[in-house]
Amino acid sequence: MAEIKAVYNSKSVCPVCESDIEYTKVRSKVIRLIKQDTDFCPYYEGENPIFYEAVICPECGYAAHVTNFSSISRYDKDKVRNIITSKWQRRSFTGQRTIDQALEAFKIVLLNQNIIEGLKSEIAKVCMRIAWLYRYKQDKTQENKFLNHALINYKKAYSQEDLTEEGKLDEYTCLYIIGELNKRLGLYEESIKWLSRLIMSFSDPQQKDKIPKMLIETARDLYQEVRDAVAAAKEAT
Ligand SMILES: [Zn+2]
Repeated sequence: MAEIKAVYNSKSVCPVCESDIEYTKVRSKVIRLIKQDTDFCPYYEGENPIFYEAVICPECGYAAHVTNFSSISRYDKDKVRNIITSKWQRRSFTGQRTIDQALEAFKIVLLNQNIIEGLKSEIAKVCMRIAWLYRYKQDKTQENKFLNHALINYKKAYSQEDLTEEGKLDEYTCLYIIGELNKRLGLYEESIKWLSRLIMSFSDPQQKDKIPKMLIETARDLYQEVRDAVAAAKEAT
């Protein structure tokens, strides 16, 4: 039996330059999640689909997370054409990706997001993935730098964006991730503040049903961990 390749090319049309393009995806059948960190960073056996989530048009340099590659406003298309395409040199991004190639692809997505002044939640999502890629590479300095960018943008998303939209980041996951990232960056008091906001929401009957059980359980465990870390730090001084 012929071996099935883990990655394949899919066709799309670039919303900015209208070229027919190809981008590489991982076959869902071969994806096997082994574990996830508390900030949702996934570990896979075999090919990692995260590497392929940054989609880039080889013709014009427009790039976005695969979930919203097609949704860009007319105003933003002009910005991409004027600022990115004018300097872009045609190149291909299809085929199997290494961590470094995935990092490069995500940085082009981040550049696009900065130029079009994308939603903070979207910028945060991209920064998280860049941080995870650095985690896979065990580059703690770069990982923390991008976790911090993600944290700043998640906080802005929480205060500025409508997080009730279906299919987007919801406000409870946003609270959780802000608490988690603060903890990861050693900002324990801040972490406690955000996690307790989430835990308090769960005791409100009107909100209780909107919060996934798994999320609240993980948040409680994390909250306890941070409290213990603070107590241990106080004892040591
Ligand atoms: Zn294009």
